[in-house]
Formats: sequence, C-alpha cells, structure tokens
Amino acid sequence: MNRITDIIYLDNNATTAIKPAVAEAMHAVMMLTPLNASSVHTNGREAKRIIESARKKVAKLIGANEDSLVIFTSCGTEANNLAIKGVKGYKTIVSATEHFSVLKASPDAHICPVDKNGIVDLKVLERILKTLSGKALVSVMLANNETGVINPIKEIAELVHKFGGIIHTDAIQAVGKIEINIDELGVDMLSVSAHKFGGPVGVGALIARKKIALSAIQNGGEQEFGLRAGTENIIGIAGFGVAAELAIENLASTERLRDMRNYMEKEIVALAPEAKIYGESVNRLANTSCISMPGIKAETQLIEFDLAGIAVSSGSACSSGKVKSSHVLEAMGVTKEQAETAIRISFGVDTTEDEVNSFIEAWKKLYQRAGKQIKAA
Ligand code: PLP
Repeated sequence: MNRITDIIYLDNNATTAIKPAVAEAMHAVMMLTPLNASSVHTNGREAKRIIESARKKVAKLIGANEDSLVIFTSCGTEANNLAIKGVKGYKTIVSATEHFSVLKASPDAHICPVDKNGIVDLKVLERILKTLSGKALVSVMLANNETGVINPIKEIAELVHKFGGIIHTDAIQAVGKIEINIDELGVDMLSVSAHKFGGPVGVGALIARKKIALSAIQNGGEQEFGLRAGTENIIGIAGFGVAAELAIENLASTERLRDMRNYMEKEIVALAPEAKIYGESVNRLANTSCISMPGIKAETQLIEFDLAGIAVSSGSACSSGKVKSSHVLEAMGVTKEQAETAIRISFGVDTTEDEVNSFIEAWKKLYQRAGKQIKAA
C-alpha cells in the first residue's frame, strides 16, 4: 500500500507505513501540546503519564520486566550508539554484517566473521572472547536488514556470558516480524526502532538491564533515567507505544508473507536459474528476499523497477541515495561483482499476491531486456 501514489511498495525493511491508529494517537497528543515531561505543572504531569504509558507498551512488546529500563532515543541508530558507546571499559566485538550504526559506533571493534549464509561464526567468536578474557561487549543483530537472516542470539548470549561479557542485539528489523522475548534471548541490551513496524520515524529505544553500567553519550538534562538528555519526543513516543501494542497483529501475517516470498523466489529461479537468493537455506525473516540478477547492476534494476512503479532497494543503499556494494554480502563471501547485482525485496503486512505477481512480471521483463534468455516453462 502506498498513500501517495499507486506505487507497489516492496521496501518495508527501509520503513513502513504508519498505522492509522498510530497516526490518530499522535494527532491526539499533538492537539494536547504544550507538553514537556520535565515540567512539574499539570501539563508536565500529563506528558509524563503519556511517556510512561508508552514505555510499558514497549517493554511488553519484548517481554521486558522491572529488571530492565526502556530508554527512549531519537531513533534506532541512537539506541545502537548508546549501547556501544555507553558501556565503558569493555572491548567491543561486532559481527561483520551489522548495520552501520553499530559498525561505525565501534571503529576499533574486533569483527566477527559470518558463514556463507550470513550467520555469525560461533567458533571464531569464542576464540576472540578467549583472547579478551572477560570485559567484552558483543553486538550481534537478531535479523539482518538486507537478507533477513536470523542469528542464533540465545546461543550467542550464553557464550558471551560464559566468558563474563555483555551482549547487545540490534533487534530493529526483527520486531513485529518474529516473536521476541528479551529473557528468552538472554541479552543484556536490545535496540528497537518504531518506524520498522508501523510507528513513526525518529523514535527508538534501547532496552537495557539495570545491572549494566550504562553512561549517557550526550550531555544535558536528566531525562530518560539520566541516560538520554533532551526533551522527549512525546508525539513520537505516543505513536511508538501504540505501534508496539499493535505489533503483535503483524505476526498473524507471517505465514502468508512467507508463502508469497517463497513463491516469488521459486518463480524467479524457474525463469532464470542463474538468479541467486542469499540466505535461502537458513532461518530468515518471512518478508525479506535478497536476489541477484546476474549481469545487471542493482542501481539499474532499482531505476527500472521504479519506472515500472515498484519500490524495492539495494540492501546497500546508503543515506546519500547512492548504491554501494553490500558489506553484508561481501562478508558472506559473495563476490563484489555478484553483490553489485543484488536487490532487496521486503514485503509488508499489506503486500498482496497481485503486487508480488506484478513484481515477478517486471523482473522477467527487465531480465529479458538485458538480453537474457528466460527458461521455458
Ligand atoms: N539497525 C538496523 C538493522 C536497521 O535496519 C536500521 C534501519 O534501517 C537501523 C539499525 C537504524 O534505525 P533508524 O532508522 O531508526 O535509525
């Protein structure tokens, strides 16, 4: 669904449409302003009540209890930065396929490789942990934004704790797509971003166990337990709370999305056996597919699909809008040439079968226009 044009929107890992109930809740709070939760007067107390109500909903979404803090931030990127820079005196280990908000927040980190399917190599992780002898902060994402590949976080958390380390997971792509429980995962910190599951852009949260000695990474007021200075984005936080409450609804679409995704991949490979799907043999998010169209650069594909009214992305699109070769695929051992031909298709809860068929048809046309032969049925 796209509310601006008739475009077929298959880029839900980039961002999702705000759910109507979320927009309504945000509008209602907007109409209540001025609201600053630091004020002691009635308006301030109302602001605090709105924030605390949203905090409970976000905690519930990931099964956090009183042993954890939900710290609202300006986005998922900030939550990841807080998790990494806010823990002092620890050596950092991150996986090679992390989002840049993790990789760039820890330029001196030990990089843990992944296997050809994009899953963290536990043996190498153990070796690095041994060399660091405790005091390690490990950050491994739950689900990858480009391929959808899901890491065995529970196992990783057990390993990290065995060596006395701290484990953070970037769960930003996983929330609203798989069930998440912070206790079952066994992690110490977890990042969430509202706009990936029907909430607004510009609001995220770091959920951190109280026992983790976390310091603020920006100076100012004492908001958010003294861990995130700055007047709270109350309108965004209210929307985040409602999106968190509704995220459970998204899970009902999982099997439908998985069936459509598998059908799409099967059709494409049947048309073009040289097409490559990344992470296909491992546990992946049901909505995500990362596919190479050999010989045709991702940038060209994105433009052609856009002209055909279909929004997809190269997993490696950076904020400048330029398409770069994907560090995720390269970490999986994919050649640079092949990685440059990969695009990401990410369905949303509103994606329909007709839209998927239109995408397959467009893929076929583009492949043929590039002078490639379609395999006869
Ligand atoms: N981590 C992952 C895995 C993501 O996919 C994204 C967004 O693309 C982020 C972090 C950053 O989140 P935000 O856009 O809220 O800063």
